[in-house]
Amino acid sequence: MKEIDIAIVGGGLAGLTAAIHLAGTGLEVCVFEKENYPHHKVCGEYLSREVIPYLESLEVNLYSYNPMNIGTLIYSNPSGKSIKTTLPQGGIGISRFLLDDILYRKAIQKGAQVITGTVNNIEFIDNKFQVSTPDGTKISAKIVLGAYGKRSLIDKKLDRDFIDKKTSWLAVKGHYKMEKYPENIVSLHNFNGGYCGLSKTETGVVNVCYLATYKSFKKHKDPKAYKSNVLSGNPHLNEFFKTATPLFEKDLSIAQISFEKKSRIQDHIIMLGDAAGLIHPLCGNGMAMAIHSAKLAAESILKHFKPSNFNREAMEKEYINKWDDAFSGRLETGRLLQKVLMHSSLAEISRHTLNIFPDLLPHIIKKTHGNPVL
Ligand SMILES: Cc1cc2nc3c(=O)[nH]c(=O)nc-3n(C[C@H](O)[C@H](O)[C@H](O)COP(=O)(O)OP(=O)(O)OC[C@H]3O[C@@H](n4cnc5c(N)ncnc54)[C@H](O)[C@@H]3O)c2cc1C
Repeated sequence: MKEIDIAIVGGGLAGLTAAIHLAGTGLEVCVFEKENYPHHKVCGEYLSREVIPYLESLEVNLYSYNPMNIGTLIYSNPSGKSIKTTLPQGGIGISRFLLDDILYRKAIQKGAQVITGTVNNIEFIDNKFQVSTPDGTKISAKIVLGAYGKRSLIDKKLDRDFIDKKTSWLAVKGHYKMEKYPENIVSLHNFNGGYCGLSKTETGVVNVCYLATYKSFKKHKDPKAYKSNVLSGNPHLNEFFKTATPLFEKDLSIAQISFEKKSRIQDHIIMLGDAAGLIHPLCGNGMAMAIHSAKLAAESILKHFKPSNFNREAMEKEYINKWDDAFSGRLETGRLLQKVLMHSSLAEISRHTLNIFPDLLPHIIKKTHGNPVL
């Protein structure tokens, strides 16, 4: 069986960034990704600017693809009352169709191998891993990174704590044509049962992505009925859906989204991105965290590969500490914000308070984001 340095399970943002970083240093890296590139993904497609300097250090220059420059947030409650604020760092509007593909091509250019296939088993025996897919592909690796996103059959196999806990969330996304939607604004509109984010991507289309509770969704038969019966209860969304043209034949959706705490290392697999913990999407920081977590893991792994006493245990410990330092606070703030937003009277009191003290909102946003990653 072929033995390599690093196998990465999942070629989304976290997995591909780690592949670029590690393959760029000459290590032998193989990424397993179940989908072909490029493909659409359920995501708000707002990327916080904090990871731009790090991506540039990996020779990924996203500005050359003309993303939207987003510097303003509008939030509205279910009755349509809104507040507007300047985003402390701001972000870019870029589709996952393009972003993941840019990273995929860069990973190949840096020397990573990308295999199309679904990993269904990872075993750790005698201080190395065996990674396999159902078609019989097997690879032996010194290190395995779990970058397979929010939920996978691997989580079940690894018997991870969060996997059997009930989740109450699903998400839906579509692209819409609406010329007059402003390029520099991301809006977050609350409705009874969830919230919906709108922002433009590099193609000029508006990405519409919402998170909803099963409880509110199950009374309506499908996303179409839910959109007209529930989302459109918010006057801003109603106005948008009345005038915008849907560009997907069918919206994309994902279910069983868990915001539970997750292990950062499981059976010696180093978990990255959503596989290590998912921040509530209203924070608009999950993509940046996935990319940043790849950097933290890559740095500890590179130390491990240098001749020193930095063994597997030290590498794992360092990664957990760095991950907790960087992200635990943001996840907690995200959980709190989500609770407030989903409680109609608390959400209204907060909106009212923020109208009186507008400087508070950028301060709260900062707590869900990090400093520029260099
Ligand atoms: C509704 C919603 C809106 C969001 N909006 C935003 C936003 O606007 N801004 C933001 O920053 N974040 C947002 N996020 C969060 C963001 O999408 C994620 O945090 C980010 O995609 C995580 O990247 P990742 O690499 O960990 O996972 P992913 O990007 O999901 O990549 C995981 C990859 O692993 C592959 N895979 C899975 N299982 C296997 C397997 N067994 N074998 C091989 N491959 C496998 C998948 O096909 C996938 O390509 C949102 C999330 C949700 C749910």
